[in-house]
Amino acid sequence: MSFPSVFVSHGAPSLLLEPEQPAYRFLRTFGVELGRPAAILVVSAHWETTLPTLTSAPRLETIHDFGGFDPALYAMRYQPPGARELGVQARALLEGAGFDPRLDSKRGIDHGGWVPLMLMYPEADVPVVQLSVQSRLGAAHHHRLGQVLRPLREEGVLILASGSLTHNLRAAFHWVPGIPTPAPVGAFSDWVVDTLTGPRPNDLLEYERQAPEARWNHPTPEHFLPLLVALGAGTPGATPRRVHSSVTLGVLAMDAYVFA
Ligand code: ZN
Repeated sequence: MSFPSVFVSHGAPSLLLEPEQPAYRFLRTFGVELGRPAAILVVSAHWETTLPTLTSAPRLETIHDFGGFDPALYAMRYQPPGARELGVQARALLEGAGFDPRLDSKRGIDHGGWVPLMLMYPEADVPVVQLSVQSRLGAAHHHRLGQVLRPLREEGVLILASGSLTHNLRAAFHWVPGIPTPAPVGAFSDWVVDTLTGPRPNDLLEYERQAPEARWNHPTPEHFLPLLVALGAGTPGATPRRVHSSVTLGVLAMDAYVFA
């Protein structure tokens, strides 16, 4: 069974303690709608490396890579089985395409991976491999990563790209309830959905030049680049679908996309 490539926004880890949030409810049903994949390849904004790197541990330990949140979040564990064979297979695909990928047998799963997965697949019984992002290498590099990994979908692998559609953390920290969402958030999110569902979805690769307020929404690119991987892993010619849109902390767009 073929699985789509998907992009989700993971928000803050505190999402897991806020079942009233629309994004929480969305992620809970999204996993059910997608069904159970053979394995999941998670591209996480929270793992930045120089070279594309894949986890290969037999079980992924939970990494609590955040500070200053509710102690309940540090007690949470999400420790899925690893999928070394999938990591080796992905490495071979990437090597064949001219990349210089690595396997990391020590690395666990960071909150870019486990926050959405805890809602989508709460049993933690689907094998997981994480793939890092290379923040300095830009949109075309990540789009190409997705293209090269696309065949894995045919083997029942869910490619789950996890970032944030907008990610101005400074604005998020200063936001207080009641203040309207800043206009750049909507302008940027609208550009993304118009581009992806329009005649030239690959214009997404030009987001730094074409999208309104790209730099404001992404002072650093690591939370946007997973969307490029998901686009690259999508079937050429198939129109991407936005399957969720909401805003958390007043500033972080939680949009999700399916690339069938
Ligand atoms: Zn994040």
